[in-house]
Amino acid sequence: MEGMVSDARWIACPNCEAPCLEREPAAGQELRCSRCGTTVLEHIGKKTLQPSMALSIAGLFALLLANTNPVLSFDVAGRVQSEHIITGVEELINQGYWPIAVLVFLAGILAPALHLGSVAYVSTACCLKIPFPWIPVALRVSELAEPFNLMPVYSIATVVSVVKLRMLGAVEWEFGARWVLGVALFSLFAQQTFNRRLVKARLENMGVAA
Ligand SMILES: [Zn+2]
Repeated sequence: MEGMVSDARWIACPNCEAPCLEREPAAGQELRCSRCGTTVLEHIGKKTLQPSMALSIAGLFALLLANTNPVLSFDVAGRVQSEHIITGVEELINQGYWPIAVLVFLAGILAPALHLGSVAYVSTACCLKIPFPWIPVALRVSELAEPFNLMPVYSIATVVSVVKLRMLGAVEWEFGARWVLGVALFSLFAQQTFNRRLVKARLENMGVAA
């Protein structure tokens, strides 16, 4: 790196971590890793944040429905019980499993809400070209909350637990279950479409420093 101009920035290849010198690709061009050929940067051009806006808002509605409808119902020895995500958290606290209760609350309710909410906020501002207040804070929240939005993992864990619980009694999927799956899918796709470089370019156009 000796002799490089002082403002040169090195970015890691997303595939093999090889350092690549950051350059803004022109129209029709892309920056490829010289070691493995993976596309490191693409020309931003006319790309929009509309997909991430739509996906994150849909995800928020799915999250609301996943938390206001029972996810599972159990019929163990004639005792029928429907469970919401939050009643599961309460039950874990009552049984003394509070670290797991905190984890379920964080991964199943709080982090998805913060992640989807902040992505929706920032991408809506970019799409409508309205400089909402606190955009840099919302952008930071989206970065922090994203790895804790474990809804995709949570939904797989639910499927596994249903298979196990069927050995004890009748377990039925309830209306909320499809919305848990919805939150998982919307979260994954919102994460894929929320391109931070694109966000920064759009914010720069609006005169917002992020
Ligand atoms: Zn590479």
